[in-house]
Amino acid sequence: MPEMPEVETVRRGLMNIAAGRKIQGIDVYYGKTIENDIEKFRQALIGQTIERIDRRGKYLLFRFTNNLTMVSHLRMEGSYYRQLNDGPIDKHTHVVFHFTDGTELCYRDTRKFGRMRLVKTGEEMQVGGLKTMGPEPTTKDFKVDYFKRILKKSRSKIKPFLLNQDHVAGLGNIYCDEVLWQSRINPEQPANTLTDEQIQILHDNIIKEIAKATKYKGTTVHTFMNAFGEAGAFQNQLEVYGRGGEKCERCGHKLVKIKVAQRGTTFCPRCQAWAGDQK
Ligand SMILES: [Zn+2]
Repeated sequence: MPEMPEVETVRRGLMNIAAGRKIQGIDVYYGKTIENDIEKFRQALIGQTIERIDRRGKYLLFRFTNNLTMVSHLRMEGSYYRQLNDGPIDKHTHVVFHFTDGTELCYRDTRKFGRMRLVKTGEEMQVGGLKTMGPEPTTKDFKVDYFKRILKKSRSKIKPFLLNQDHVAGLGNIYCDEVLWQSRINPEQPANTLTDEQIQILHDNIIKEIAKATKYKGTTVHTFMNAFGEAGAFQNQLEVYGRGGEKCERCGHKLVKIKVAQRGTTFCPRCQAWAGDQK
């Protein structure tokens, strides 16, 4: 599943291949991708120009000239690619935006979970998870006092706590495992038992990790590519994710893979020991 650094990489690619383009026609091959009435969706966008693409958490926000915003969530496998108008498409391409410059933007999604919804600009924050989404993991938006306050209120294990986008936006399974390892925090430690020192370290690692992963254009796992012919390179930087059974880079102990809140979780039982886990 694309995480925030991957979605930010997609956004930057879309700025190159879609921003400034005017829509001439739209073909929809799998209706459920569009949450609006399809005919209204087409009529609202034909003749409009994509001004820019913004992002909030893992949501892409296409800004159109007529004060409309298309909210696009890639979910598991969604991706965008560009080709010349009327180029060949396969059965996994569900929506095609034809531009007046002779190119087209195609949306491809093997799992078909991705969704697009057109709303008035300004109303996008009412869509899906955007309404309750926590701050972006940046120095500017994500404050340690806020983090401390919400952690102290929760008895949830820290891993699912971090996966919850209402707490902080953009952390998925991969980066959760990485920041917890970096911070030497056990994924099952309850949120409200973290010390102030642990909170500060975790907070700083979250900001650093997401920035670094974005710089490397994200992580390429399974079939996810950023759709512009480039694969992210961050998988080479991962210390724990996908490395269960291998040795911990820090202490040499064997990394262990367990399930925490139904999610595969890899950690080092030595570096990430927690007093409370000796049940
Ligand atoms: Zn270790």
